[in-house]
Amino acid sequence: MADPVTYAATITESELKDHLYTYASDEFEGRETGTEGQKKAVNYLRQHYMDLGIPAAQENGDYFQKVPLEMAKLPKGSIKVSGKEFTLGEDFIAFYPFEGEFDEVVYAGYGIDDEKYSDYQGLDVKGKVILARSGEPMLEDGNYLLSGNNKPSSWGNMSEGIEKRVDAAQSRGARAVLLIDEDNFKRYLRYYERMKDSDRGRLGFADDKENPSLVLVSEDMAKAIFPKLESLKGSYTEEVELFANLQNSNEPIPTENVVAYIKGSEKPDEYIVISSHLDHIGVSRDGSINNGADDDGSGSVAMLEIAEAFQKAVEAGNRPKRSVVFLHVTGEEKGLLGSRYYTDYEPIFPLEKTVANLNIDMIGRIDPKREGDRNYIYLIGSDKLSSDLHRLSEEINDRYTKITLDYTYNDENDPNRFYYRSDHYNFAKNNVPIIFYFNGTHADYHRPGDTPDKINYDLLTNRARLVFHTAWAVANRDQRVMVDKLSK
Ligand SMILES: [Zn+2]
Repeated sequence: MADPVTYAATITESELKDHLYTYASDEFEGRETGTEGQKKAVNYLRQHYMDLGIPAAQENGDYFQKVPLEMAKLPKGSIKVSGKEFTLGEDFIAFYPFEGEFDEVVYAGYGIDDEKYSDYQGLDVKGKVILARSGEPMLEDGNYLLSGNNKPSSWGNMSEGIEKRVDAAQSRGARAVLLIDEDNFKRYLRYYERMKDSDRGRLGFADDKENPSLVLVSEDMAKAIFPKLESLKGSYTEEVELFANLQNSNEPIPTENVVAYIKGSEKPDEYIVISSHLDHIGVSRDGSINNGADDDGSGSVAMLEIAEAFQKAVEAGNRPKRSVVFLHVTGEEKGLLGSRYYTDYEPIFPLEKTVANLNIDMIGRIDPKREGDRNYIYLIGSDKLSSDLHRLSEEINDRYTKITLDYTYNDENDPNRFYYRSDHYNFAKNNVPIIFYFNGTHADYHRPGDTPDKINYDLLTNRARLVFHTAWAVANRDQRVMVDKLSK
């Protein structure tokens, strides 16, 4: 096997600095998902791979993997019951579209569908609108029927109860659930008003529609449908005209992952994915730009240099045995969206054939807790699925980079739970062994002060070399990294 040191040496302070001073400049406007600034970022990344001659990962030659996101907006329209119009945000609350004309509504008690008790017994609700209420049945002795004691079951839990009711209605084929639930009505009303004020909600996948539609209704609106609501026992079907005209007004947010790859020479169908997130949090309300030099400009430019080192090896006749994938993901700051799109919706390469994921998110700064002892990096997750990968990572570091590998945040009981908080997690949950490289947080985290002049380029260089050497070893050794523990 060729000596990787020559190639690691092509990862230099001055090149990392050059890249980062552009990538985290004001011109890129904080690289918020879906913005012009982010477009500049993805073009910059793509240009680098084109210049190096590293091909796109997708077969069609496009470096951009489109990630169809939507900005949630409140639906528009109303619901009419027997010709009377009810108003969104007053009489009812809904966040998803609901359209259709119905001539009956089925009252389904508590909307509970459980082994011990079901409101759906003998009820056909396929394609129908049902109305249910919160709460759960009680025994005569004052205990809850479902739990058999004085504690409510999960159907009585405010958040879980709603989810379970929607799931039950969905499995029974209902078209919509109208729910009388005073506490949740108040809670959702606050969220509704926040969304109305800002004219936006969360960014999510375009197909994350609630199905069946959930509509929280006021007692008055429920009574317009079921005049005898108070005396209803068991299930009941009311013939009533219900006209729902709540239209989707979500705004499509076009965005993309940037994915390049170097095909392996001997085991091209096995893949090592190196990842970092290309996005950041954009511009603050007061107009100051969050440059995100550390988060995750540092990881992004480290990847550009790591890719270059691999490509230099290819040019010298030392193509890696396994394929190496360079995955720059979008939407990390919005909930790990780009990486989740890659793993859950459209893995360009099969996850079963993905040997490891090395994820870099913030490797250019120093945690104030480690001031004075700066040659360190926090490693998270290396031993969670594969003792083999953990061992290899330590050996490589001992041999080449000699950085103190700090496992503070690898502790399962650490309250920060960083293992679940960056893009590698989407690989780990699919039992792909991962290592997450991280310098910890600092005062400039997610603030305009995260600028390229505050990066420690010597540390960034050595940490990028550690990732390169580790990827090189994983790609070139005979045995694939062994998974000896499975995630639950
Ligand atoms: Zn980050």
